[in-house]
Amino acid sequence: MANTDLAKRAQALDAQDPLSHLIKEFALPHDCIYLDGNSLGPLPIKAKHRAREVVEQQWGEDLITSWNKHQWIDLPSRVGAKIAPLIGAQPSEVIACDSISVNLTKVLCAALQIQQQKSQSRRLVISQKDNFPTDLYMVQGLSDILGQSRCELVSVEPEAILESIEEFGDSAAVLLLTHVNFRSGFIHDMQLITQAAHEKGVLVIWDLAHSAGALDLHLDACEVDFAVGCTYKYLNGGPGAPAFIYAAQKHIGNIKQPVSGWMGHKRPFEFTHDYEAGDGMQSFLAGTPAVISMSILDAALDIFSGIKPAQIRQKSISLTQFFQDAFSQYLSEQDFTLVSPTDTAIRGSQLAYAHDQSYAICQTLIDNKVIADFRAPNILRIGFSPLFLSHVDLLDAVTRIKQVMEDKTYMQAQYQVKHAVT
Ligand SMILES: *Cc1c(COP(=O)(O)O)cnc(C)c1O
Repeated sequence: MANTDLAKRAQALDAQDPLSHLIKEFALPHDCIYLDGNSLGPLPIKAKHRAREVVEQQWGEDLITSWNKHQWIDLPSRVGAKIAPLIGAQPSEVIACDSISVNLTKVLCAALQIQQQKSQSRRLVISQKDNFPTDLYMVQGLSDILGQSRCELVSVEPEAILESIEEFGDSAAVLLLTHVNFRSGFIHDMQLITQAAHEKGVLVIWDLAHSAGALDLHLDACEVDFAVGCTYKYLNGGPGAPAFIYAAQKHIGNIKQPVSGWMGHKRPFEFTHDYEAGDGMQSFLAGTPAVISMSILDAALDIFSGIKPAQIRQKSISLTQFFQDAFSQYLSEQDFTLVSPTDTAIRGSQLAYAHDQSYAICQTLIDNKVIADFRAPNILRIGFSPLFLSHVDLLDAVTRIKQVMEDKTYMQAQYQVKHAVT
């Protein structure tokens, strides 16, 4: 029977999974199948302990001496250095701070500045229409302040990205793309696109929100100029955990960014009148780091030490493909349409299914302890965070989804009410 075949396959895949021991690192609620680690990673046990230590001991007992005693002041670079090997970068090229949105403004300005030192005519920021909204909003905000003669957003269809670089020629300054599409999970070819942009003199910024911690990234090898990413998704850094910035070594030292706060100053504790940018990635810092949040993130990242991004990617592909196979067998009679690519090579660690009732289905699943999320207008989005999920969990989730669909519990009124956060 098909069902026992799938169950056997799940067990066999789990038995040969080199990352299966990592589930012990997470404090997951009993009986909950968490398919939303791509939106908010679950709580690592190490992070829970660090939270207690940083609040009770470091803040509570050691008070302000902790800036030196527990090296709070170095957290942005120390955390950046831990993220570096996960994205194919040198430790000196990554720093943790602020949110992706704020960091985008910094790297966009840095990139525009580098371009406009060479040619005033390079002013267009090319992006794609279905990019994550904040990426587009940040360019729009910057354009309002700088004026269109310094910064103008051009958003094109994803298929037209390479063409548009050609078309805009010497007026193109920056290509700003999200590596893995937040809805569909489609992966852009980072190497090919970065190279094509460079051939036309365009700098490239990648948003790694749905890549870091799930994909095998090689920013240095792809000669990426700048990147931003968040840490509360696959990196399990906790709600609102700080984001990170990557800048290629060749650009460091030539960075000007407008959020020139005192923490980015070369000698913040001399309290001088004039701004002087700090060395290396420090110049991307603005204000005081979010110490509690960053300490938790620092501990959460330790789970990744000793494992390779290639192993994470391999597990992610295996989970995603297994789920899709089980889903298409169990739910073939339901009106779900897969909107993610079917080719694993161009698909991130998620699957998106369109369904008219996807919001209500998602709410019903939550009550059945299968947590996924809904993305407007009609997507049920399933995330496969590789460090704590097993193939057996996924088969269990598909079984519960089948039950919900057959019982039509999602038609009940309480599941149709929209919450503020989906
Ligand atoms: C989650 C996400 C963000 C989040 O940005 P913040 O400013 O850190 O809230 C940005 N970009 C993409 C593509 C995302 O998926």
